[in-house]
Amino acid sequence: MRYLTQIFQPVITIPKNAKIKNTEITCKSQKLLLECGLIRPTTSGFFTILPLARRALDKLELLVNSCLERVQAQRISLPCLTSANLWEKTGRLDSVGSELFTIEDRHDKKYLLAPTHEEAVADLMADVGPLSHKQLPLLLYQITNKYRDELRPKHGLLRGREFSMMDLYGFHSNIQCAHNTYSQVTEVYRRLFDVLGLPVHRLVAPTGEMGGSLSHEWQLPAQAGEDSINICPSCSHVQRNGGCEKCASETDVVQTVEVGHTFILGTKYSEPLQAKCIHPDSNPSPLIMSCYGIGITRLLAASLEALSSESQIRWPKCIAPFAAIVIGPKEGSKEWSKHGLNHIEGVARKLDGILDGDVVLDDRHTLTIGKRLFLADRMGYPHIIVCGRNSSETPPRYELYTNGRREPILGDINELMD
Ligand code: ATP
Ligand code: MG
Ligand code: MG
Ligand code: MG
Repeated sequence: MRYLTQIFQPVITIPKNAKIKNTEITCKSQKLLLECGLIRPTTSGFFTILPLARRALDKLELLVNSCLERVQAQRISLPCLTSANLWEKTGRLDSVGSELFTIEDRHDKKYLLAPTHEEAVADLMADVGPLSHKQLPLLLYQITNKYRDELRPKHGLLRGREFSMMDLYGFHSNIQCAHNTYSQVTEVYRRLFDVLGLPVHRLVAPTGEMGGSLSHEWQLPAQAGEDSINICPSCSHVQRNGGCEKCASETDVVQTVEVGHTFILGTKYSEPLQAKCIHPDSNPSPLIMSCYGIGITRLLAASLEALSSESQIRWPKCIAPFAAIVIGPKEGSKEWSKHGLNHIEGVARKLDGILDGDVVLDDRHTLTIGKRLFLADRMGYPHIIVCGRNSSETPPRYELYTNGRREPILGDINELMD
């Protein structure tokens, strides 16, 4: 259990804060994350992730890990610097060009702060290979920061110059196997977005700079999105543009955020970088690669865009920084004198046991219950337990507010958490 006053959460009022100008706040998630003390900008497109947002991201990472466990993916960490030489070999040093952050060491050797890791991971396969067809398919992933010198860093975590990405790479001996993995990972993506309660749509996409033979974008409807999709009002089928391909009716254009992107890459990286596999009856041939990205920090912000109101954060329940907050009576009130602090702490500890250490006690006892309830609702705690008037009855009954409910449910702590 945590005491709220001990949580590092520098809440700000934007127009009054010199470093953050009102004009730079361009979307809901950015405003809420800043105002509620969850992130802090450092310089354009870079952010410090503060404890509560870090907790939410940790939960999101755990969820992603458990989903990827289903396809036997194994987690690794590649260095954030990639030798520019590898990108020269695949031709991407020139084609990606101005989005790359590049640096040189004291011996004038060039590196880039990796915006993605296809080259680095193909080089790893070349280094350890050639792989036997018996070792395939192999799925390796990481959750690390990526660096892109975006032309316009924008909308806070939605488009940063440093951001966290889950990038999964599949290695296959043949294209059929790559397609099998692709459908399995697609299922995993669907499961992840279902658990988060987010209506993410999958759309066929151009393979673009990344290359390959097949690609899908994963788009979440949200006003601040820089992409758009077309949804048919009569048959709900989703497409990239134009009238409905099924019933020819006019479609509604909906703004979306690209939260993920998946590709069958073929041999675009394995061939120039010599990442090979050995088949039973032939010479080594380049590995067939697939890759799958999810913007972790972008997904967090996009889920707030999709679920929150202008003034109240709503988290996908499973990634809220804390599952519950306990609010006791105001110091000096009738209920306070009857219970004292010990009783409220006891309630919070009991709840903490039920919710596995995921509980905050609001120890700003000089504030009214109403004020603290308002603030807790703004932060989007999935469960708010208030020890109000009914808590001084025998037996005591507490009030539970969930998901912005105005009317509380009354009961014993165990009943309420059932
Ligand atoms: P966008 O079209 O928004 O620029 P992208 O197509 O360049 O994104 P990908 O190369 O497909 O991005 O990267 C995989 C995922 O990484 C994206 O689907 C997105 O979720 C995330 N991502 C990409 N760029 C950023 C960024 N600047 N800030 C935060 N997340 C990002
Ligand atoms: Mg981009
Ligand atoms: Mg894109
Ligand atoms: Mg993309």
